[in-house]
Amino acid sequence: MNRQIIFITETIQNQMTQPVKELIGFGASLIPDHEYQSLLIVPGQDVAELAKQISSETGIHTLAIEHEDFKFPNPHLLGKILPTVIQKSMPSYICMNHNVRNCHLAATLAIRINAACITGVESFEIQNGYPVFTRMMFNGKLAAKTACKTEPIILTVIPGALSDSLIPNRKNGKGTIHVMKTDDLRSGYHPQKVYETIAKDNRLEEADVIVSAGMGIEKEENMELIRKTASIFTNAAIAGSRIVCDHGWLPYGCQVGETGKQVTPKLYVACGISGTIQHTAGMKKSNCIVAINKDPNAPIFSIADYGVVEDLKTFLPILIAKHDEQKN
Ligand SMILES: Cc1cc2nc3c(=O)[nH]c(=O)nc-3n(C[C@H](O)[C@H](O)[C@H](O)COP(=O)(O)OP(=O)(O)OC[C@H]3O[C@@H](n4cnc5c(N)ncnc54)[C@H](O)[C@@H]3O)c2cc1C
Repeated sequence: MNRQIIFITETIQNQMTQPVKELIGFGASLIPDHEYQSLLIVPGQDVAELAKQISSETGIHTLAIEHEDFKFPNPHLLGKILPTVIQKSMPSYICMNHNVRNCHLAATLAIRINAACITGVESFEIQNGYPVFTRMMFNGKLAAKTACKTEPIILTVIPGALSDSLIPNRKNGKGTIHVMKTDDLRSGYHPQKVYETIAKDNRLEEADVIVSAGMGIEKEENMELIRKTASIFTNAAIAGSRIVCDHGWLPYGCQVGETGKQVTPKLYVACGISGTIQHTAGMKKSNCIVAINKDPNAPIFSIADYGVVEDLKTFLPILIAKHDEQKN
């Protein structure tokens, strides 16, 4: 009998929050002989059209689950609806993109359907026919390898940690689309509003150039250097690592990485960023990466196209001065 994989996407106002094709590719590679059936679940307020579009692009069966309280992500309500849906197909794997809402959902489902659960999966290898998953611990300082003895296994997978080449070529397959209306269910948890925490003129997704600050900037006053560097370029935005946002030096809407934004600008300038996998998951697909770091062994240099080994407080003022000199 073919094995089953269930993929769960997330939507905000009927738009997907994270790419789904890479997730599908990840799931497909868990079953090396590709003898599996799959179901993609798309929760949302009015997502039948979106489900149809994804199904035609990926060729897999799709179930749109509609509820007025799915206008914004609602792991609480989804955790109530999904156990019945999942138990009908007895899947081997349930895969979703890694984010805080999906960690909530994964844990809820694991308890309700008695499944194993591994969050923050970055990669896996097949050993003796079974996948062994790798996840980071302690801010990326340790890696843990975990295998599960039972199925189903719920996985939250880090976006950007996997190669696009894993996407299976099933575009010509014929996926069915079902729509399930669940408005009679009350959630008791109503997400009210999602609002932008980032200035309209600093949209990371639309910027050609992103100048990004890491803890190497040392203190908030040095953010001015990052702003001045960004002003050298047209259509530039500023961003930062999570720790910089945790310090309140930038709003969380500017955070790049696994739990922040995934960006692909023409140029990404990483200033004082060490290059942990949680950060690079959000920027490694940039066209050109320039890293400025005083530590020649910083991991960011392994993905940088150009590296500057220097104190950013020395290098950036020289860069800005050279630019001003040429402009005048
Ligand atoms: C579940 C989870 C999710 C996470 N999600 C994210 C995420 O989305 N985005 C994210 O960024 N992080 C995320 N993190 C945190 C991540 O693991 C790292 O802690 C963080 O990215 C490190 O930020 P950093 O590079 O700014 O700081 P550090 O790792 O402290 O690096 C600072 C770097 O600056 C260099 N430096 C110091 N002084 C100077 C100077 N004067 N000039 C030049 N270079 C200098 C140092 O050599 C060092 O390489 C997450 C962690 C977890 C556990």
